[in-house]
Amino acid sequence: MGYSTSRFQALQTVIARKPKETEFPKNAKGIAQKVSDFYGVYTFSQKKMQERLQSAAFKRFVQISTHGQKLDQELANNIAHAVKEWALEYGVTHFCHWFQPQTGTTAEKHDAFLTVDSSGQAIERFSGSQLIQSEPDASSFPSGGMRTTFEARGYTAWDPTSPMFILDTGATKTLCIPSVFISYHGDALDEKTGLLRSNEVLSEKACALLKLIGDQDVEHVTTTLGPEQEYFLIDRALYALRPDLIMAGRSLLGARPPKGQQLEDHYFGSIPPRVLAFMADAEAELFKLGVPTKTRHNEVAPNQFESAPIFEEANVAVDHNQLTMEVTRRIARKHDFEALFHEKPFAGVNGSGKHNNWSMMVARGGAETAGLNLLDPGKTPQENLRFLLFLVATLKGVFQNAGLLRAGIASSGNDHRLGANEAPPAIISVFLGKMLDDVLNQIEANTHKNASYKEAIIALGVSRLPQVAKDNTDRNRTSPFAFTGNKFEFRAVGSSANCAFPVTLVNCAVADGIAQVTAALDAKLKSGKAREDAIFEVLKDAIQETKAIRFEGNNYSQEWVIEAEKRGLLNLKKTPEALHELVTPKAIKLLTTLGVFSEAEIQSRYHVRLENYVKRVLIEAECLQTLIETSVLPASYEYLSVLTSGVASAKAAGIAVPQEESAARIAKLCAEANASLKRLVSSLDAIKGLESEEEKARKIASTLAPLLEETRSACDQLECLVADQYWPLPKYREMLLVV
Ligand code: ADP
Ligand code: MG
Repeated sequence: MGYSTSRFQALQTVIARKPKETEFPKNAKGIAQKVSDFYGVYTFSQKKMQERLQSAAFKRFVQISTHGQKLDQELANNIAHAVKEWALEYGVTHFCHWFQPQTGTTAEKHDAFLTVDSSGQAIERFSGSQLIQSEPDASSFPSGGMRTTFEARGYTAWDPTSPMFILDTGATKTLCIPSVFISYHGDALDEKTGLLRSNEVLSEKACALLKLIGDQDVEHVTTTLGPEQEYFLIDRALYALRPDLIMAGRSLLGARPPKGQQLEDHYFGSIPPRVLAFMADAEAELFKLGVPTKTRHNEVAPNQFESAPIFEEANVAVDHNQLTMEVTRRIARKHDFEALFHEKPFAGVNGSGKHNNWSMMVARGGAETAGLNLLDPGKTPQENLRFLLFLVATLKGVFQNAGLLRAGIASSGNDHRLGANEAPPAIISVFLGKMLDDVLNQIEANTHKNASYKEAIIALGVSRLPQVAKDNTDRNRTSPFAFTGNKFEFRAVGSSANCAFPVTLVNCAVADGIAQVTAALDAKLKSGKAREDAIFEVLKDAIQETKAIRFEGNNYSQEWVIEAEKRGLLNLKKTPEALHELVTPKAIKLLTTLGVFSEAEIQSRYHVRLENYVKRVLIEAECLQTLIETSVLPASYEYLSVLTSGVASAKAAGIAVPQEESAARIAKLCAEANASLKRLVSSLDAIKGLESEEEKARKIASTLAPLLEETRSACDQLECLVADQYWPLPKYREMLLVV
């Protein structure tokens, strides 16, 4: 008695698979090329632009793009011509504005370079205005009600701070122009515009603080970002038999396998050859695109993997993370895998996150400061003080805006992951590590005793910060926002998220924290306080204010939930309540005062995300209904009828058989599944009838989502009782353990 035919065939296919040949670029001798030989061939870097533009034009471009000025028509035409000529050399036929609407993915509308003149002569053309701006059909993208239909127009505009690139899908090559997406009135319709604005605000505030403490030559501070991307790979043959994975990106059913992650033999284990072949191909593609993907390894769960890049300026890092996800998805298919970016594709198995490694760096300044990481503790007491100021400013930002940061990572997928004992809880807190924690405690205590601040520096060993703080053993992997030596790691971000929004909110929170620190310090200096005394007082005040947000213990523990509540920290478990933090008067005041979002833009983000949550859970419910009605129950009934007819004939022959008991259990579970399904469907119908999106979202979180879990429970028990021969859906053990 074997597997159901469909599962059997799929498993046969999987078993027969061999690692695919990779298309890693090779030299004439058939040896793999050095990555440095082809890295970035598909990006129109500043270097290439410089080679192809007259030097005055190039200088003007650099000037314009670093200072965010408007491009003039002549220069735009020059650049358009240069990039077209470059692209044609690679066989590119089309161009597109590549942008990030609030759909979670990227969007592109391709146009050919081809034009035909009045005499019928074909020629490749690309003008400056085509480079700078385009008008996609904006009405097909979510705007959260910001764009009424009578002004449905939206524009994409070239963002010259992220390099143009060639997307090579094998079939065709397209020149992609990284762009922002805005409405006719200039409202942000995308993920990038807010990020760019927040980078500017953070820069402005950070520069002001740096100038106040004596770093006069600083001109610009940039946000740096290194997103670590987790994902699952599932064989396509098995994936194709799981409508839930196809429709919802996660399994809505499935009994947990006896062997799984509990053995913990997957993490950092050797990467299976088929997966390695996929990774090599995907990386080659990313290297060509100038994406500095650096590390790859197995993750905690079976069939779960991670890739991480070398960090870059946040704007470019966000584009590169989007490209990484796209390339991963596309190349995975080439290798007969489906890449799953959902935060929780398999219940009972670790989910996927995207750790956002974040810091601030002096991008432009004199020899003293250029390239300086502001969260690097430094080596001298002077550097240490600067570091401590930015550190407490970050603490202030996170403490005062914890709800907003929680809102930035809210999604239906992340609801399954946060607090599930594998990812940080929904409570936002900051981990600093023992050494820094001690330093802050001592600053607080010393100042109470009115010790001299100069003595305090020495007593605290502040000048010894760097060696200790970088110690890798001092790590807390359970914290949602952890200091890791010279950067913060925002770990609560979901694997499918676009990093732009969470990073925008972190930038805003910290920009505000920095502004407060600057104002406080400025006031003390103006009142005639000595510099170091003034700095220590500011540090002390901030440390006292933000004490509640610091937590060094185990974030997964139940004690922390209780403790956090005592401290008055928010614990916003589900998306609707978390998203609501976006539209509190406090959040609106912060974001509008900084000039990063208008109130309409905030409302739009709130509604887009709420709608997205509603849509996704409704799809899940409908998909589960179909699965139960067309797979789970038919399979169970079929097996049940075999059992009962066996029991009947045995009885007729006067034999008592144990199948009778199995049949009774299955019948009972079928009845349970049916009853839960009825409740699910009536809840679904009730929700569809509700007027407002907010009401729907609340009802979904309180009723429908728990019903999805309840309904699945009977089905998962059935899966363990119904003979394999009848069960049509690939099981967890098959999807997760066979590569
Ligand atoms: P870890 O010790 O946390 O594993 P890694 O050096 O592996 O540190 O870095 C993890 C990620 O953090 C990488 O993507 C890396 O580029 C990024 N990262 C390192 N320094 C910074 C920084 N200053 N700003 C932003 N990201 C950084
Ligand atoms: Mg890390």
